Amino acid sequence: MILEELRLCRNHPAADEVYLRVKERLPRISLGTVYRNLELMASQGLIRRLETSSGHKRFDPIADDHCHFRCTACGKIEDIPFAVEIPELNASHPWVRVRKIQGARPEYFGLCPECVDNSATK
Ligand SMILES: [Zn+2]
Ligand SMILES: [Zn+2]
Repeated sequence: MILEELRLCRNHPAADEVYLRVKERLPRISLGTVYRNLELMASQGLIRRLETSSGHKRFDPIADDHCHFRCTACGKIEDIPFAVEIPELNASHPWVRVRKIQGARPEYFGLCPECVDNSATK
């Protein structure tokens, strides 16, 4: 049910937002339970834990690789609906050679359409 509610939130919610939704259906559930289940599903690869550059931990119901856009005005995180080409690291560089690079997930930032509109009318 936690997964179901997470999928209904289309805005990459924090654990407490998921908790408030689940609580409407299961009034006795605790934030700790919701949080533990989110962490568990993230470690199983069912969902993704987002470490945003703003420091807030959010959860993403889509576990597949995709890039995000973060609005610096309202804090909303959106999925970028097309593939973004990620630059390759120079594999012969000594820094790269001693590491096992598994991927990169660029986070783009700027203003979402609503905030663009808001800043234009101000
Ligand atoms: Zn915005
Ligand atoms: Zn996402």
